[in-house]
Amino acid sequence: MEQNSVKRPSDCLILIVDDEEIIVEMLRDALEPAAYRVFSCTQGAKALEYIDTYDFDVVVTDLKLPDVSGLHVLEYAKRKDEFTEVIVITGYATLDSATLAINQGVSSYLLKPLQIAEFFIQVEKAIASRLFHLRSIELMRQSDDFAPDVKMHVQDITSLYYFIRKLMLSLEITEIMRITLDEANRRIGSVLAVISVSMPWVEELFVMPSQGEITEAELIPLLVRFREQVIASSGNRRQTDGEPLPVIFKGRQGEAPGFDDLIPLSVPMMVTDRVLGVLTVFVKQPSPPADQRRFLYVFSSIVSSVVDHGYVTLQARQQAKTDSLTGIANHRHFHETLDREISRANRHKSVFTLVLLDIDNFKRVNDTHGHQVGDAVLVDVTRRIMAMIRAGDVLSRYGGEEFGLILPDTDLAGAEALADRIRRAIASHPFTFAQREIGYTVSVGLAVYRGSEAAGKDCLIAAADRALYDSKERGKNRLSIGTIDL
Ligand code: GH3
Ligand code: MG
Ligand code: MG
Repeated sequence: MEQNSVKRPSDCLILIVDDEEIIVEMLRDALEPAAYRVFSCTQGAKALEYIDTYDFDVVVTDLKLPDVSGLHVLEYAKRKDEFTEVIVITGYATLDSATLAINQGVSSYLLKPLQIAEFFIQVEKAIASRLFHLRSIELMRQSDDFAPDVKMHVQDITSLYYFIRKLMLSLEITEIMRITLDEANRRIGSVLAVISVSMPWVEELFVMPSQGEITEAELIPLLVRFREQVIASSGNRRQTDGEPLPVIFKGRQGEAPGFDDLIPLSVPMMVTDRVLGVLTVFVKQPSPPADQRRFLYVFSSIVSSVVDHGYVTLQARQQAKTDSLTGIANHRHFHETLDREISRANRHKSVFTLVLLDIDNFKRVNDTHGHQVGDAVLVDVTRRIMAMIRAGDVLSRYGGEEFGLILPDTDLAGAEALADRIRRAIASHPFTFAQREIGYTVSVGLAVYRGSEAAGKDCLIAAADRALYDSKERGKNRLSIGTIDL
């Protein structure tokens, strides 16, 4: 790293790694006007070699490389200099790994097909951030010669910058909360920080002591005593719902400070005119200085927009997994869950069961009562099944009027009993809609997956599907058991 001179953008070194020659060329061309010093390669191994040899300011890497993974290139660059800016390129298929990468400190990610203009902006941002980092190191080095208050300001601004940056890079709400609560405790010198989130569709509570751990037994009395101040409520919670279960983080290393005689200091968390929740810090001093409250307001407003963005992202992700009519998992999420269960069963040599259910003569329901009533029946069957399954079971809308039910850690006996109970419950009484009684039944097919035999997903689905077909053939409203062809 050049320590003494102030680095200019044109001194910055950039590495571009992508297995497609044409993409590499395109990206190089895009950076041409900025006159950075650009290196590029199409192999992960070559990238590692470059990283050994040169001190890159920005590394742009495809996640999918033929030899070593892009994640490895990322780790390698970060191990050499944790403040190297890394931008990853990914397709939708590897978006999950991209999320993982972001949690490992990636500056940003770019989705394929690449938008050149966006790529250019991301690189410019990364360079700006890198130069800020280098300058602040330089400033810190020189600040020994500054007056003490100037020195403190420099340190404050720099550390606030890093906090905001870290916050912006986090995508997961839990991670955002963890970073925020820790920072609040550190800056205020509080012994406990609490964020209560209250939006129309979500109520959550996050708690972190400055050091050590806080038990629920210690926390609950505080929450009860200061409820009005600490717990935000959107007013949407029904009387019967309990309080949200708090997510309790560990504090920093060290002895828990003790949670007696605490004074809460609360500020709202807002974006424009919407209230997201309340941030509370508990302090030990009898009268918290006005400075603390002022700082807390500023802090809260910085954090709020990031928190809001985190929840918007979360909601979008949930929507992408949900069937809009019934609110259960959609086809895509069904496959993701199945993939996960299969690898889990293979790993632990355990079993689980896939149940397929298809409404009998559903076309007739639509034809007789109309499509809207058909929709209502789909919601009804979802509601009935949901009421009979356990928390870990995943019900999904597999197709139009076909449902997939994944039962983790459930063998044949258990699955058969449950599936038949569901079948009988549905057949036993009609669905009432606009004073009409609509009786309907379902046919069921199931197949057990055994990790010890490690068949594929397609074999499992085919087995359950054949069983379902058998039930239809045998006259509907019945259950059949399929076996996997190995
Ligand atoms: P079977 O007993 O053999 O399963 O006969 P079926 O009539 O249930 O099955 P078929 O596959 O012939 O027809 C399924 C019908 O489900 C046709 C389609 O219009 C209807 N359907 C699919 N999705 C929806 C939906 O979202 N809403 C409504 N109302 N109907 C739907
Ligand atoms: Mg049907
Ligand atoms: Mg069908």
